[in-house]
Amino acid sequence: MKAWLMDILACPASDCRSKLHLEIFDAHMIDAKDGEVEEIDEALITCPKCGRWYPVIDGIACMLPDDLRMEAKQRREETAFLERWKERISQDIIEKGVPFGLSQ
Ligand SMILES: [Zn+2]
Repeated sequence: MKAWLMDILACPASDCRSKLHLEIFDAHMIDAKDGEVEEIDEALITCPKCGRWYPVIDGIACMLPDDLRMEAKQRREETAFLERWKERISQDIIEKGVPFGLSQ
């Protein structure tokens, strides 16, 4: 994904819709017609209003509703994301993130 997407993305929670914060963990440069642009591979998206977090995995922002994130396959992928980057993610999210962290 491209960083400018953050300008148009909002928190998908129906009672929130806040602007989001992006923290990039891994990215690479790709050729575009007007020079090089950054392609984000792995990042953490957080919502300052409702406290939810969303992962960017393999360049895809995973911004699903809570109930879909709790389903087995999705939850496994997002838990693996937390494990992969836990040194760089705040303890609040690791321990008691919304909708889940590593200890719930
Ligand atoms: Zn939110």
